[in-house]
Amino acid sequence: MTHILGLAAHAAGAELLPFRYDAGLLLAQEVEIRISHCAVCHSDLHLIANDWGISEYPFIPGHEIIGKVTAVGSDVRSLSIGQRVGVGWQSNSCGLCEWCTQGMENLCPSAEATCVRRHGGFAEAVRVNARFAIPIPDALSSEHTAPLLCGGITVYNPLRQHGINPTSRVGIVGIGGLGHMALQFARVFGAEVTAFSTSAAKEEEARALGAHHFVNTREPRAMRELVGTFDFIMTTVNADLDWMSFIHALRPTGTLCLVGVPPSPLAIHAFPLISGVRSISGTPIGSPHRLREMMDVAARHGIKAQIESFPMSHVNEAIDKVRNNKVRYRAVLAN
Ligand code: NAP
Ligand code: ZN
Repeated sequence: MTHILGLAAHAAGAELLPFRYDAGLLLAQEVEIRISHCAVCHSDLHLIANDWGISEYPFIPGHEIIGKVTAVGSDVRSLSIGQRVGVGWQSNSCGLCEWCTQGMENLCPSAEATCVRRHGGFAEAVRVNARFAIPIPDALSSEHTAPLLCGGITVYNPLRQHGINPTSRVGIVGIGGLGHMALQFARVFGAEVTAFSTSAAKEEEARALGAHHFVNTREPRAMRELVGTFDFIMTTVNADLDWMSFIHALRPTGTLCLVGVPPSPLAIHAFPLISGVRSISGTPIGSPHRLREMMDVAARHGIKAQIESFPMSHVNEAIDKVRNNKVRYRAVLAN
């Protein structure tokens, strides 16, 4: 189809409205995907609000996409019409740089995002470079798997990179879309897992998802008791936190890994980093190779997002619920 119908933001923070765009000719390396499901990531909300200063309007958000291939470009050999695939945050890379040639396309300086300066998955269809459309194993249901395409890989990748294993003590901060998948992956990797949450009501579900321990971060004493406990703390929170309390909660050589995007710069004292060789890091999504690996792990270990379903036309309702931290734990739009 050359004219694709979606739901677009026309100004910063505006409600999404129906919008049709001309997708032009399908490029030789591209596939077109008829979308069955697209989940709502908090990054879509950041983009709609132009929190990062990179949004251009109108644009159709959405980058946790599952659907079926309906057209393949003349150079595409890896996918065929009718195949079920998923697309995440990234839709293209140069394919030539040192990062792409090592299978780390998510670090490519020319990486393109599925819904930045182009139209994403809150729509009937989307086009991407075929290398970024990942086959979905039959064992995985589309609606429970769409959230893995961005949120899932973003938490899976750092757990793999940091070698999380049965000796690891892992903290996951913020039990939202990303956090609830991080609990499951950290548990499957064998770690002792602690959920940090501002929502006491999430405790039972956090434990069912894989947490051995639950810390209510609204209780000031709770953090003081955890000094020197964790090898790895991953924060998925899109807000400013008391970062020093998490640095102090790390064991020597431990890492505080940011995947959530807080609004302000971090204020950190150097001494706990120096004396305990502790580090702070950040990480973006994951490569197509890691996405395939994660899908296989999810299929074999029964990992899936806990979701709330909405018809695509109810996108604004879903976005409001995400904004107010009311979704348990990922909103998924269905066509
Ligand atoms: P989400 O579903 O809204 O979850 C965020 C969670 O953070 C909430 O459920 C809440 O958990 C906690 N939280 C929210 N406001 C808070 C506050 N004021 N103080 C403390 N905790 C708060 O969002 P998401 O989709 O998981 O995305 C989270 C962040 O990750 C966003 O900034 C997003 O842009 C970013 N992200 C980054 C990447 C990457 O590549 N690095 C990829 C995807 C997303 P509790 O109720 O448990 O406290
Ligand atoms: Zn995302």
